[in-house]
Amino acid sequence: MSLDLPPADRDFAREAGGWLRDHLPPDLARKVRLNQRLTRADLVGWQDVLVRRNWYAIGWPAEIGGPGLSPLRRYLFDREYGALPAPHPCQFGIAMAGPVIAAFGTPEQQARFLPDIRENRTFWCQGYSEPGAGSDLAALSTAARRDGADYVVSGQKIWTTWADWADWIFVLVRTATGSRPQEGISFLLVDMRSPGITVRPIRTLDGEAEFNEVFLDEVRVPAENLIGAEGEGWAIAKFLLEHERFSMSGAARSRRILSELREDAEGAGCGDDPFLRDRLTRIDVRLLALEQMELALLRAHLSGASPGVEASRLKIRGTEIAQDLSRARLDIFGQRALLHDEDFLDGRGPTPDALAAGALPGWLNLRKVTIWGGSNEIQRMILARQTLNMR
Ligand SMILES: Cc1cc2nc3c(=O)[nH]c(=O)nc-3n(C[C@H](O)[C@H](O)[C@H](O)COP(=O)(O)OP(=O)(O)OC[C@H]3O[C@@H](n4cnc5c(N)ncnc54)[C@H](O)[C@@H]3O)c2cc1C
Repeated sequence: MSLDLPPADRDFAREAGGWLRDHLPPDLARKVRLNQRLTRADLVGWQDVLVRRNWYAIGWPAEIGGPGLSPLRRYLFDREYGALPAPHPCQFGIAMAGPVIAAFGTPEQQARFLPDIRENRTFWCQGYSEPGAGSDLAALSTAARRDGADYVVSGQKIWTTWADWADWIFVLVRTATGSRPQEGISFLLVDMRSPGITVRPIRTLDGEAEFNEVFLDEVRVPAENLIGAEGEGWAIAKFLLEHERFSMSGAARSRRILSELREDAEGAGCGDDPFLRDRLTRIDVRLLALEQMELALLRAHLSGASPGVEASRLKIRGTEIAQDLSRARLDIFGQRALLHDEDFLDGRGPTPDALAAGALPGWLNLRKVTIWGGSNEIQRMILARQTLNMR
């Protein structure tokens, strides 16, 4: 299956690819290629570049100031984007808080929050998971009680990516106990500078601290920051999770990484190794299948169908391929990948073997992709339920 593109869409793809290539700062592209850690300034600076072309809030319709791309152009844009070593923009504002506020917020909330998200003036994080509520999100216990014009929020969130960088957090809180755990959950927007919030970084296997614990101790949140009706946050939570999963295949990025690996293998003197070639070819075939799956979904979407459980299939396949690629990179460099140079990873200095130096942290870091956004086991359960016709 291939795409027979109308000329105007083909021109759009060419223009988008050219523009992104011309505007991606070479230093930033190098950092991404070498798996070096990005700073907040790296990410926000690049997002500012995208804002100049209104390509930061890329999925937004024109009515709320987005580029209003058709689903086909959105797909083409993502394909061009993934082909470049550009940082993945922070999704919490543009792909989560923004669409939620657009769909469920009042006109006042939309006017207050959407322009700042679209123009990259506010950095957002997602406060869903708690120590006792991950896959079983409805078990969350962070509580909010109404006190005059405010909610008073107490509890703990965990695994909160970039909470230490964020200006705002959207949280699921319990405002009542219903007969089912999904009842009595509400969706609140909280200013991260509010008194009573403490952020504590969690260091991961690769030495990074990209996620955090967030403690909320009697934090006062104006009631006007409640999105939707009190106690009806579960519908919003589900809307947002489906949004999150649909964008998780990462096929274009994996295609780029596969071609980088072939270059790396040549450079490392193992480009002709038949076992490595066989392995990369097998990944290539699975990637082709993933790309075909994406195209089939795009076609279904263009004819009005919603992604449904297919989003789960994309997430499973896409994340498994991304992990296999990172494992292949590790094996290409062999012992050379064991070098661990914190200064180099933090961009503070050169290292004698720059390509190899990022391979191990890259592999360690990608352990996360089969966990976040609903673990792959949970995605398999979703598929199994549908296949077996279970509720
Ligand atoms: C890098 C990273 C970033 C993250 N960022 C954020 C963030 O910004 N905000 C946020 O709110 N959360 C974030 N998360 C949290 C993420 O959503 C949770 O880790 C995820 O939902 C799994 O929950 P858990 O870690 O509590 O594991 P658990 O739910 O305790 O699961 C443990 C294991 O049991 C399996 N399991 C659980 N239930 C079932 C079941 N019913 N059937 C089969 N297997 C099951 C799981 O697959 C997993 O292997 C992030 C996670 C990671 C790894």
